[in-house]
Amino acid sequence: MSKIIDGKAIAADIRKQIAAEVQVLKAENVTPGLAVVLVGDDPASRVYVSMKEKACEQAGIFSDEHKLPAETSEAQLLALIDELNRDRRIDGILVQLPLPGHIDESKVLEAISPEKDVDGFHPYNVGRLATGNPLFQPCTPYGVMKMLEHSGVELAGKEVVVVGRSNIVGKPVALMCLAKHATVTICHSRTRDLADQVRRADVVVAAVGRPEMIKGDWIKPGAVVIDVGVNRVGEKKLVGDVDFAAASERASAITPVPGGVGPMTITMLLYNTVESAKRRAAK
Ligand code: NDP
Repeated sequence: MSKIIDGKAIAADIRKQIAAEVQVLKAENVTPGLAVVLVGDDPASRVYVSMKEKACEQAGIFSDEHKLPAETSEAQLLALIDELNRDRRIDGILVQLPLPGHIDESKVLEAISPEKDVDGFHPYNVGRLATGNPLFQPCTPYGVMKMLEHSGVELAGKEVVVVGRSNIVGKPVALMCLAKHATVTICHSRTRDLADQVRRADVVVAAVGRPEMIKGDWIKPGAVVIDVGVNRVGEKKLVGDVDFAAASERASAITPVPGGVGPMTITMLLYNTVESAKRRAAK
């Protein structure tokens, strides 16, 4: 049986460190501040936003909430972002996605100052990550890297297979593994013989969004498996992209779903906000 990589425990450890760093910053009269902008009333987005607010509160971070009606115009949203870019109390700006259809998402993300882009989605920050000199790294893939680090997984020279090529998970996690000197393969819906690709992997990162599509017998004995997928099956059950029961018979270490990558995302948002506040304090 493999070791379970416990995302809840790793996230709790990092949050403790974050809370301690916030106290140090406050003693220097710098309170880290995160602005969270929600447009409309998508129920899932509301839940995420309230989780983020609560996490800020617990860490001692100032949370500046902006809940705007669904009919907010693009110009109004851009004006708010402009205001937040100039607000010295704010170290990070997060616009909860998806935005209503009449608002151009990329225009909004590009309006956020790259120095406050704690989600790491601004093309400037994507470019910095791609060129090996990151400023802010996107939270979910950054969380994956922290989990690997905490679990003592050395990536240099290893074969990493990432399944999924989205801008928010697959591509950035591949770049981050490359920066750690892994040999990286990115698979997607047009990949021929996915099973064969996964079989080569010392580390598998699954970010597909298809319940248990990665089978246990695809996992090389001793491989490390990181399952980013969150899929609802039936009324209440959540499963990952990997067949956990079968894969854990072969992997040396594996993340569960839930309780794996999930708790890391908000933790890394807090982490990025505090990093940003430290840069402000150093100025
Ligand atoms: P996307 O839907 O944006 O991307 C999915 C990727 O999987 C695409 O690149 C797609 O390929 C690829 N794919 C789809 N079907 C197959 C297939 N049959 N074989 C190989 N590749 C395939 O998803 P996200 O990256 O946003 O999210 C992935 C998963 O991670 C989801 O379950 C999501 O809920 C979860 N997630 C969890 C987070 C957390 O834990 N905090 C945060 C973000 C996401 P193609 O590009 O060719 O279409």
